[in-house]
Amino acid sequence: MLNFNSYNFKDKRVLVRVDFNVPLNEHHHITDDTRIQMALPTLQKILSDGASLIIMTHIGRPKGEVVADLSVKHIAAHLSRSLGRTVKVAPDCVGNEVKTMAETLEPQEVLLLENLRFHKEETKGDEEFAKQLSELGDVFVLDAFGAVHRAHASISVIAKFFQEKMFGLLVEKELFYIDRALKKPEAPFTAIIGGAKVSTKIDIILNLLDKVDNMIVAGGIAYTIIKAQGGKVGNSLVEDDYLDVALKIVEKAKEKNVNLVLPTDSIGADKFDNEANIQLFNGDIDDGWMGLDIGIKSANNFSQVIESSKTILWNGPIGVFEFRNFSFGTLKVALSVAAATRKGAYSLVGGGDSVAAIHAFNLESDVSYISTAGGALLEYIEGKPLPGIVAIRGEE
Ligand code: AMP
Repeated sequence: MLNFNSYNFKDKRVLVRVDFNVPLNEHHHITDDTRIQMALPTLQKILSDGASLIIMTHIGRPKGEVVADLSVKHIAAHLSRSLGRTVKVAPDCVGNEVKTMAETLEPQEVLLLENLRFHKEETKGDEEFAKQLSELGDVFVLDAFGAVHRAHASISVIAKFFQEKMFGLLVEKELFYIDRALKKPEAPFTAIIGGAKVSTKIDIILNLLDKVDNMIVAGGIAYTIIKAQGGKVGNSLVEDDYLDVALKIVEKAKEKNVNLVLPTDSIGADKFDNEANIQLFNGDIDDGWMGLDIGIKSANNFSQVIESSKTILWNGPIGVFEFRNFSFGTLKVALSVAAATRKGAYSLVGGGDSVAAIHAFNLESDVSYISTAGGALLEYIEGKPLPGIVAIRGEE
């Protein structure tokens, strides 16, 4: 597999798939440019080697239609400023005019292709469309980590048309840090899985049970497992269709000798509201009350496990942390992950809400790595082959 940093791009036409799916407000201004910033090191290296750069991205979900609000025109000026050079905007992402623009691009010039998803062939993974895209460059660089789990034309299908293809720096970095936890974890390895529903986390938990020493499960998910084991959970969030599945977690943990850690006490609320009345339950929760956070005993127990770990993977909040009165458990876990990291543990935090919690508590620099990949990260942790990764690396 080609290595991005050691590859010399001089005089090549380099086609890069990035994820510039940035939020735009009603005036078409970018409200958060993190995704552009994250791709800059890759783009700068290609340009400073002396290549011409052709950038492909999607924005939003135009579903195969041209939607003016989702045109790359709205991000071109910002990208020009970030790169410190003019960015030409193509009227489409395929077709003769675009092909000519790509072919006549000089070294160190930049061409931004129009939103890929204006063509329905993109999300369908259409081969002919992928081939047309591939004809725009000599080398393909995949740097859209947030989209590597998609079998889309510009992500995975396109790769087969290139001899020279590789990941960009962003994808390389994400894979390095995620693999450090998943492939070579130093023991004890603790996973902390929170969030709302067991149905969305079951594959992650079952796959991680093959790897971890401790599995802490909290948030709404825990109540389905507690109920499945015969506990009383009052009006807490429960997926009754998943009680059997939840028991699989308990059984697999036993079989694999994994220490499964569940909340033993809960902060109950009489309604789903920050201003709800509160009652602490040691064990069973009465009818009319719902567990929205863990209690102090569970928090201390979680902290002890976390702080004696050498590798930590955290996804999903421990309670309804968006409500200030129910954010205690998530804060305590975040502080414990930070404390363990200070003592030398490797900690990886990923997934929208746990990342939001780390930001809300200002602990960004106290954990080893924060992955912003969302769905792609979760599918990778589930152990699924991700089409974009397989297309570049080959089958594992
Ligand atoms: P997820 O996207 O599955 O990680 O779920 C995140 C959501 O889970 C957040 O919005 C939390 O408010 C919610 N959550 C966490 N704990 C609970 C709980 N005990 N009851 C209901 N929702 C919860």
